[in-house]
Amino acid sequence: MSEERVLDGLSAGRGIAVGPVAIVHSAPPLPEPEPTPADPQAATTAIDEAFAVVAEALTAQAAAAEGTVAEVLGATALMAADPALIGETHRLVGEGTPPAHAVHAAVAQFAEILTAAGPPLSERVTDLDSVRDRVVAHLLDVPAPGVTLSEPSIIVAVDLAPADTAALDLGLVAGIVTEQGGPTSHTAIIAGQLGIPCLVRVAGATSIPAGATVAIDAAAGRLIVAPSAETRAELERRAGADAAMAEDTAAGATSDGHPVALLANIGTAEDAERAAATAAEGVGLMRTEVQFLGRAEAPSVEEQAEAFRRVVAAFGERKVVVRTLDAGSDKPLAFAHQTEEENPALGVRGYRLCRTLPALLDGQLTALGAVAASAGESLWVMAPMVATAAETRAFVTAAHAAGIAQAGVMVEVPAAALMAAEILAEADFVSLGTNDLAQYTMAADRLSGTLADLTNLWQPAVLRLVCHVATAGITAGKPVGVCGESASDPLMALVLAGFGITSLSMSPPALPAVRFALRRHTLDQCKAMAAAAYDATSAEEARAAALALVDPAVAAQLGLG
Ligand code: PEP
Ligand code: MG
Repeated sequence: MSEERVLDGLSAGRGIAVGPVAIVHSAPPLPEPEPTPADPQAATTAIDEAFAVVAEALTAQAAAAEGTVAEVLGATALMAADPALIGETHRLVGEGTPPAHAVHAAVAQFAEILTAAGPPLSERVTDLDSVRDRVVAHLLDVPAPGVTLSEPSIIVAVDLAPADTAALDLGLVAGIVTEQGGPTSHTAIIAGQLGIPCLVRVAGATSIPAGATVAIDAAAGRLIVAPSAETRAELERRAGADAAMAEDTAAGATSDGHPVALLANIGTAEDAERAAATAAEGVGLMRTEVQFLGRAEAPSVEEQAEAFRRVVAAFGERKVVVRTLDAGSDKPLAFAHQTEEENPALGVRGYRLCRTLPALLDGQLTALGAVAASAGESLWVMAPMVATAAETRAFVTAAHAAGIAQAGVMVEVPAAALMAAEILAEADFVSLGTNDLAQYTMAADRLSGTLADLTNLWQPAVLRLVCHVATAGITAGKPVGVCGESASDPLMALVLAGFGITSLSMSPPALPAVRFALRRHTLDQCKAMAAAAYDATSAEEARAAALALVDPAVAAQLGLG
C-alpha cells in the first residue's frame, strides 16, 4: 500500500469526502496537419470506426441511465451514427483533409445549420460538439473527454466550467478537486450549493492515478492521497461532529441574543425545495442565471414565474431574495451578448445588461411581480453589479412599479461600497457580494488561482469596505446582508456580525457551522474580532487577529486552527 501524502489546495467551504479518483479529461486539441495527406481509404475506415465506437458507447450509457439523461444520451448516440455527418467527413477526407480536422469541419457545418434553425435544434450543438470531441479522441488514441462514473468518486480535473459541473452525474460525485480555478469561482460555488466537498488549486492532482483513494478535507484545504487508517478515523470523527452541529436549528443569533438571520443561497426551484427543509431562515440569494444557462433564448415570463412560485411556496412565510440576471464575465449566456468584450468582467455584466437587452430585466421583473401579487412582502428582489446611486434608483423604481415591495441592490463594486449611504437612500436593502467585491477591490480575477492570495476575502481592504457598508446600513436603519462566500466561513461570520451585518446567506451545508460559531460568542466579542481584523495590514493578520479572540473549544470543534 502506498504512503499517505498531502497536496495543498484552497476551499471556500467545509466538508469531508473519501473515495476513488475519477479523472475528467478535457477535449483533445487538434494536432498540426501532417505535411503528407493520410491515405483516404485508411482515413475513411478510421473515421467510420471512431464514429461507430462512440455511438455504441453512448447507446450503452443511455441504456444504463434514466429519464432526461437517458433521452439526451440516446439522441446524442443518434448524432454519432448520422450518415449525413459521416458522409461529409468522407468527402472532406477525399479532398485531402486530415481525419481529425475533417471531423471538426463537418461538425462545424452541421452546428451552423442547427444554430440557424433556432431552438430547440440549436440547443443540440453542445451534444454535437461532445460527439466531435469523443470521435477525435478515438482517432488520436487519447482518453475520451469528460468522465463516466460507475461508483461514488472524487472527480479530479484541470478545471471545470459551471456547465461541465452541471453535466456530471451528481449522484455519484463525492467530491471535486481541480488544479486551477479559485475558491470563489462558480464551479466551487455550485459544489458548495450541492454540499459537495470541493478543493481548487491542487497542483499535481491530475497526476494521481485513476482509482487511487483520496480524502478531501475542505476546511483545512488538504487533499490526502492514500489516507492512513488513523487519518480516516480522524476525518470520520470530524464529519460526525459536523453532523451533530446540524441538529441545532435555532434562528441565527449571538449568545446574548443579537439576531443575524441565516439564509440560503440557491440557484433553482429544486435547490429551494432542498434548502427549505433545512433550518435556513429564508433565501438570501437566488442566482437566476441558472434558469438561463445552456439556453438558446430566455425562458418565457410564465416559465420564470413558475420557478419563482415554487421557491416561494417552498419557503412559505420566510423571505426569498431573488437576484436578477447576472450574465456576463464567467457566466456567459450565448444569447445575452451581442459583441465580444476585451474585459468581460468589466463589461456589460449583471444589471448593466439592461443597457443592451432591456427586455431580459423587464421579463424577470414581470415574472417576479406576478408572483409577488400573491406572495406579498416575502418576495424581495435585488440587482447585481450596480455601481451608482442612479442605477439603484432606476432599478428600485422599476421593481416597485412591477409590484415588488422590497427592492435592493448588491454591493460588489467598490464604487457602490463607497457610496453605500447614497445607495441605501434609494434602496430598501443591500447585500454584499464579497466574491466580486474582492475581485474588483483587489483588481484580481476571482477565477485565477495564481492570484488567490489577493482575492482572499480576509484582505483588510475588502473588510474595510464591508464595514463601511454595514455602518451605512446601521445609520440608515436598513438591512445589510452578505451573500458572498465570506458568509459561509464561521470565523468570518463572527467578524461580519461584529461589523453590524444583519443577515448571512450561504450554501445550506455551511449553515450549521456558522450558527454554531455565532451562538457561542457575544455581540461584544464579535465586535472585538471585527475591530482586530479591520486594523490588520494583511489577510493572514486579519484572520489570525480574529481567531485569537475565538473561544478555543469552538475553534477546535470547527477545525479553524
Ligand atoms: C458575489 O459576487 O459575492 C456574489 C454573491 O455573486 P456571484 O458569486 O454570483 O457573482
Ligand atoms: Mg457577484
